[in-house]
Amino acid sequence: MTEAPLVAGIELGGTKCNLILARGPDAILEEKRLPTERPAETLAAIEAVLDGWRGFAAIGIGSFGPVSIDRASGDYGRITSTPKPGWANTDVARRIAARFDVPTGFHTDVVAAALAEARWGAAEGLGDLAYVTVGTGIGVGLVAGGRPVDGLTHSELGHVRPRRVPGDDWVGACPFHGACVEGLAAGGSIAARTGIAAPELPADHEAWLLVADALAQMLHAAVLTGIPRRIVMGGGVAVGNPHLLPRIREALKASLNGYVALPEVEDADTYVVPAALGNNAGPLGTILLGQQALGAH
Ligand code: ZN
Repeated sequence: MTEAPLVAGIELGGTKCNLILARGPDAILEEKRLPTERPAETLAAIEAVLDGWRGFAAIGIGSFGPVSIDRASGDYGRITSTPKPGWANTDVARRIAARFDVPTGFHTDVVAAALAEARWGAAEGLGDLAYVTVGTGIGVGLVAGGRPVDGLTHSELGHVRPRRVPGDDWVGACPFHGACVEGLAAGGSIAARTGIAAPELPADHEAWLLVADALAQMLHAAVLTGIPRRIVMGGGVAVGNPHLLPRIREALKASLNGYVALPEVEDADTYVVPAALGNNAGPLGTILLGQQALGAH
């Protein structure tokens, strides 16, 4: 088997950037972390690190989103409608590709993590999965056949509107939709509803039932969209509150009500699972984005 191509990976997050020079998890040559500041400073700092790295055949970029992934669009490679100050409409991928003149893959950080979990993590060998991150925001990365499910743009299932639990009329925290799933179940939304930060919210607090209900409805939609062979859940809220997964599994099973009569889906304990790669998922996924840009996978 030939050696996988060497890729410079850039995980551009809302607060920090992880840079990696690697062929895969067993061949990491360099790693570097930088703070995410204003676009001009941050992108220049990333370029300065890559200027010092040698031998990479491609670049993979996984960015906080939303991003434009449509190569036919004038906006391709940009971060689009982010509320993060200064970053809306920032060109990332075209700028990096022009400077280094190698094939460049570009996608969301969520899809990058999804690719890594599908290849080396909690859905290893399956190829078709939904990766759900529940943290500051809620993102769903869809992967089929080991590649991102792309259309005009990427999935934004975190913003679907759940049916409300009877008696719950809280307005929600999404600036676009109020009580979409992100507006009800992201870390900031939990804190806005309860006045308690998600990591400190007791496991028996009634708000968790509402969070689990909203997430289970989103998973219901993801199951019926795909159908993913496994759902992998990561992000600070999901990882930091292990009581949440069993509640989501139970609510998902009740919501699907036996409609998807596949043993893989009905065995909730192996169908909805925690992420396996932790904070490495994003950086490792950028390596796959770069290798896919080369046509290597
Ligand atoms: Zn929303």
